[in-house]
Amino acid sequence: EHTTMKLLVTGGAGFIGSNFVHYMMSRYPDYELINVDALTYAGNPENLRQVEGHPNYTFVKADIADQAALTPLFESGIDAVINFAAESHVDRSILQPGLFVHANIVGTQTLLDLSKTYQAKKYVQVSTDEVYGTLGAEGLFTENTPLAPNSPYSASKAGADLLVRAYYETYGLPAVITRCSNNYGPYQFPEKLIPLMILNALQDKPLPVYGDGLQIRDWLYVEDHCKAIDLVLHQGRVGEVYNVGGSNERTNLHVVKTILQELGKPESLIRHVKDRPGHDRRYAIDADKIKRELGWTPSHSFENGIKSTIEWYLRNEEWLEQVVSGAYRNYYDTQYAKR
Ligand code: NAD
Repeated sequence: EHTTMKLLVTGGAGFIGSNFVHYMMSRYPDYELINVDALTYAGNPENLRQVEGHPNYTFVKADIADQAALTPLFESGIDAVINFAAESHVDRSILQPGLFVHANIVGTQTLLDLSKTYQAKKYVQVSTDEVYGTLGAEGLFTENTPLAPNSPYSASKAGADLLVRAYYETYGLPAVITRCSNNYGPYQFPEKLIPLMILNALQDKPLPVYGDGLQIRDWLYVEDHCKAIDLVLHQGRVGEVYNVGGSNERTNLHVVKTILQELGKPESLIRHVKDRPGHDRRYAIDADKIKRELGWTPSHSFENGIKSTIEWYLRNEEWLEQVVSGAYRNYYDTQYAKR
């Protein structure tokens, strides 16, 4: 009942992007999908092993800020762009803000330019609730909350969002922005809270918790996020922003304790460490608009999502070990270097 599409997905070797590639390939087997990823430390071809060689799937190693590398892809005709590619780790942005400006702002602007020149029918920018800054004990981020980013990461994402808005307003580019809360699930790189804690707990290593651990995040299971992007891609109104959140507010400490409990490990593994500078206290999303307009509903509570996630990491210890050891880089060299 749908017409087939040729999609350009960027950052598809990362955590959310690879989940999205799997989700789309199984839901729309007739769609053509090109995945552009620079394969930074966060990009892992292992995440895509199941789709490799599929006739409707192509991988291209390129930086989204490299216009010359992307032009032939756009020349081949792209119906829609879904931009996941980004430097995504707040702690790294504090050390190297310049990398974040390059990937997140210059990269997005390059994709916007190409989408405009080659008249893509839809451009989806995957953004974050972190652009809104931090909340006190009360209230939720709506799509009208002013942008007030506090880290170089969130500032670079906010900058990208403003360019997307400007390309819609100035050139009529059919662009949409999604802003979602913290994702968790399979294929997440173990520098982020949940996989890091699972990994350390499995190895009986201390679990480092920033400050008092009472920072609140609104956890969203990655598959529910993929469903939201699918809806926005096909039905989202251009020029709009859609917030996506799981209504699962939990403190970091609660998350860590849940993981320890699930794995049968003692809370004595918890170590409180010096808080991250500028650490946002609370994020919480009002996702009413996407629910009302597009009929999106998340299907995972935090409790069952975290169970599935832990089970996935237990079943994929080899993946985890490879990621940690960097062995997947060698894998990449032999798989892709000569293409
Ligand atoms: P990730 O770090 O796991 O993956 C990012 C991917 O982008 C990697 O594969 C990396 O190789 C690639 N990449 C980085 N710079 C690139 C460049 N210049 N050109 C091409 N590829 C490049 O990140 P993620 O957690 O999957 O996040 C994906 C997107 O979703 C990001 O835009 C992020 O801002 C956004 N987001 C993430 C979360 C979350 O909780 N993880 C929440 C809200 C929004």
